[in-house]
Amino acid sequence: MERDTVAQSIRDRWTVGDTEDDQCDRIPQSRSNRDVADPATHLTRDPAHVPEQITYISPPPGASFSDTDFILVSLPPSTHPSASLHGQTSCLLRGGAYKHILATPGFPCAPTFPSSSSPVYIIAPSRHGLGLGMFATCDLEIGAHILTERPLTVTPTTIRMPVFAAELDRSNVRGEERRKAIMGEWERRFLDPVFNGMGKEEKEAFAGLANCHAEGECGMVLGVIRTNGFEVEGVREDEEDEGVDGEGGEYAGVCRDMCRANHRSFAIQFNLHSCSPSADRLFDVPSFSFQLRATRFIKAGEEISVSYCTVLDPAVERQSYLTSYGFTCTCTACLPPTHASDTRRALLRSSIDEIDDTFDEWLADPLLADDFVLKSSLRWIRVIEKEGLEASDVYRHHLHALVRACVALGDEEGVMRYGRTLGLWWLGQSGREDMLKMGDVKYLRGRPDWGMRVWEEHVEE
Ligand SMILES: [Zn+2]
Repeated sequence: MERDTVAQSIRDRWTVGDTEDDQCDRIPQSRSNRDVADPATHLTRDPAHVPEQITYISPPPGASFSDTDFILVSLPPSTHPSASLHGQTSCLLRGGAYKHILATPGFPCAPTFPSSSSPVYIIAPSRHGLGLGMFATCDLEIGAHILTERPLTVTPTTIRMPVFAAELDRSNVRGEERRKAIMGEWERRFLDPVFNGMGKEEKEAFAGLANCHAEGECGMVLGVIRTNGFEVEGVREDEEDEGVDGEGGEYAGVCRDMCRANHRSFAIQFNLHSCSPSADRLFDVPSFSFQLRATRFIKAGEEISVSYCTVLDPAVERQSYLTSYGFTCTCTACLPPTHASDTRRALLRSSIDEIDDTFDEWLADPLLADDFVLKSSLRWIRVIEKEGLEASDVYRHHLHALVRACVALGDEEGVMRYGRTLGLWWLGQSGREDMLKMGDVKYLRGRPDWGMRVWEEHVEE
């Protein structure tokens, strides 16, 4: 599925309770740039399905547990060398997700860090209003590794306490009171043990993070998770463990790194957002760590940004979504919001649907110019660059069209140029070095579609 569509579908889930009336103020969860996870979310309605207590605590290897048990565990295990070197994550997982992690090839392993000997960024006062921002200290190529961090906590984004919720219903507890009661109970039973599972230093770092829900709406632990959580991509439960609506099963990770400077992630994180972001986060399950990577070329001195929203949405929708974080975006696409920018983003979104048809038409029609596809996608890429949307999936789609066209034309130079950028784009999104093969002529020459649209002989006949 198109990633921006996934973002839409995921973020629409962030509700607490099981009726529309119980909608939580949605704290963002973006997939368009795979950030922020939130909160307290969807409540499954199947009472028999879910135990409402932690049934295993730090199960020893080989302990038996069911896919629906809640498990409190620190990862990677303390026996692994990277646990003492790079810390452990205090996790609340359901059995299905825990099994999935244990079965991930390579788990557990040490995280990889940026190769340069000194940090490629500094934390300094932001150029966008108050607070701190993150600035590149050198030119960063697309895909460049900016930082690595193992999260302090990983917890479900879905509250599963149907029995408790049913009790509230019987007692006629409704609306806001019900929502608060559910969050409070979830925190007391499930999240406090996660907090207590951390070491002293980690607890201090966690408690020092920003909490935009401090005014009695929920407790500290849930507040910090709702404010700072990032989606932990790749950690989820099996399909059959999802809530009754097929929702949930996702996890949020809380990191401290960006707040290390002064433990005010609030300011720093919020200034990290842009609707034309230059970086993206990814979660590497084997090393149980987040990576931040550049999604486009970042000049030395430039402020590094990620996106918390679906970047192809119109400005007014982005702002309304970002309100749940308690801030107004002041990026160049938002200040002032322009009809031209909105139009470009809408056209880019629809351009994705046309790529395959354009390509197929070109492949089958020798009367169309050789550079028909190249011209089309290069035109869109100029729009993408103008809007600073290289982090979006739309960029990948058009780069891919360029590579495919060059492959079909047997154009080695074109393949190297666009394939290299495509490989770096994938590196930035996935951390996978092997994606650089996209720019490898030898690899691409081996494809069955190499030279597929070399028509000269036919045209001359
Ligand atoms: Zn913006």
